[in-house]
Amino acid sequence: MPLDEAFIDASYVSYTIIKDKRVLRDSYIPDTLPGREHQIFQFSRILSDLLVDQPPSDVAFIGKPGTGKTAVVKHVIKKYRNEYPNLRAKFAYVNCSQATTAYRVLYQLNRSMGVLVPPSGYPFDVLWDKFVDAYTTSNSRLVIVLDEVDLLVKRDGGRLLYALTRLNYDLPEELSISLVVISNTMDFLERLDPRERSSFEPNRLQFPPYNHPQLYQILRQRADLGLKVGTWEDEALQYIASRVAQESGDARRAIDILRMAAELAENERAEKLTKEHAIMAVDTVNEEEVSITVRTLPLHHRLILAAIADVLERPVVRAGTGTIYKAYEQRAHLYGVKPLTMRRVSGILRELESQGLVEIEMQYGGARGNTKVVKKMALPVRQMRNLLAQMGIR
Ligand code: ADP
Ligand code: MG
Repeated sequence: MPLDEAFIDASYVSYTIIKDKRVLRDSYIPDTLPGREHQIFQFSRILSDLLVDQPPSDVAFIGKPGTGKTAVVKHVIKKYRNEYPNLRAKFAYVNCSQATTAYRVLYQLNRSMGVLVPPSGYPFDVLWDKFVDAYTTSNSRLVIVLDEVDLLVKRDGGRLLYALTRLNYDLPEELSISLVVISNTMDFLERLDPRERSSFEPNRLQFPPYNHPQLYQILRQRADLGLKVGTWEDEALQYIASRVAQESGDARRAIDILRMAAELAENERAEKLTKEHAIMAVDTVNEEEVSITVRTLPLHHRLILAAIADVLERPVVRAGTGTIYKAYEQRAHLYGVKPLTMRRVSGILRELESQGLVEIEMQYGGARGNTKVVKKMALPVRQMRNLLAQMGIR
């Protein structure tokens, strides 16, 4: 076969199932958001004060990752911009996972007011004054969205939030700043210091994890928009929805798995995306996630993981801290590094647990008092071993 014909053939074969790749990406926001009707309604209602030229109250969106917070805020703002082009109000959206310092956030806010300042190196106060000047001459209300605000507060405290809320007291009536803060952690408001908290009492909008029927609807929408008609089995979507509902209720994850399943099916040259592809995709996506976390671990953490695998492979032995420690000591010697203390290793077990790499259960009483026992790892032992082997831990 001539070369260019082969090319045409290959590109044809590789898109048998996926119709539009963009739809399966994280950045894509569909026109409707199944399961978030209530939050959209509530948030739209709060903003509707703008329609009668009144300042909307502050809002806090609270919910775990993948519960649709960013999607809802963008959806509603877009709706306002499209439906009310003459609104005397501006929206400024800043994602604090990119702008991680108060300086960077203020830099972005200046930009959204059309003021260009250097991305670093200016005194904070100068930046602040520029922002206030630009804002007070803008003649419009301002709605500031601080997405992933918990990251900002963790790093810089509530100083900027506080300054923004206080600003309203100095502004004339026809100007106002409303804050929409979005947080992945539940307790971020409680972490502000009391003075900051007393001047900032937003309405709370909760984003619970998605349940099975909601995840199914979300996946169904992506399949309808992103996959070719008749190339996927409903059972596959049901399977993904049920797995993700049990684990986390995270829509991002569900969509990731769907995309992976579609790619696996295409790579196999399968006619349809089936439940089997979905099952494989769950494992693949899990492995990718675990692999990303394991790659960030220091050597001793990895050795401890390998030691846990050693112990879990021996069926009769209980994976208690003492047993794990012995296996870890052996591995440390093998690597020619000095083992950490038992106490430290016990602490690392907790770290591994909080990163979701192992599941631990406390066993009380017994000959040696209370002890931590590792029940299982985030991946089957063999898979975890392969992963560690790729990183040089055999
Ligand atoms: P969060 O900001 O809470 O972490 P996102 O809003 O970024 O979550 O949602 C994660 C992914 O899932 C995005 O790709 C988003 O488009 C999608 N998504 C979330 N909720 C819905 C929904 N109700 N309907 C359709 N897609 C959704
Ligand atoms: Mg988000």
